[in-house]
Amino acid sequence: MANLVLNVTIEIPKGSKVKYEYNRATKQISVDRILYGSSGYPQNYGFLKEALDWDGDELDCLVIADQSIGTGISVPARVIGAMEMIDDGETDTKLIGVIDCDPRYTHIKSLKDLNQHLLAEIKDFFENYKNLQHKKVIVRGFQDQAWAVKEYKECCGLMKKYGKMPKATFISKMKKAHPNKYR
Ligand SMILES: [Mg+2]
Repeated sequence: MANLVLNVTIEIPKGSKVKYEYNRATKQISVDRILYGSSGYPQNYGFLKEALDWDGDELDCLVIADQSIGTGISVPARVIGAMEMIDDGETDTKLIGVIDCDPRYTHIKSLKDLNQHLLAEIKDFFENYKNLQHKKVIVRGFQDQAWAVKEYKECCGLMKKYGKMPKATFISKMKKAHPNKYR
């Protein structure tokens, strides 16, 4: 399958416990909270401004890299898969990309090319990062690049159609139209 390279805007640098969040309505990145637990983000974490996920926020994307990348910075990421996740009852997919401007990562074309412990670490982080907030996160598993590309395109369609709709309105509309995306 052809490479899909996307520009990811970083919210949270690799290693940080500061939960920065982008607000589409105000176009501002703010600090939502400091993570309650003891772990920081296992990889750089950001969003795709052109894609809307079922949770009413931009589609999330992890950017695997050696370096920690600053908040608000756009970084090219090659999509290699996705992690299916349900956060507090809402579909909250994480695309998985690798940095596309570092020759150390040129050979990584799919999730299978990664050190598999790294995927275990990502899964473990998201399964547990809200424990001390008493919120339930379910990681359903990993998906390949083709699945991730399809999901990205679907979310681009949602953004075109509903991007200007207030988040709460979007979620209540989608819960009725697509109940399978909510638990
Ligand atoms: Mg999300």
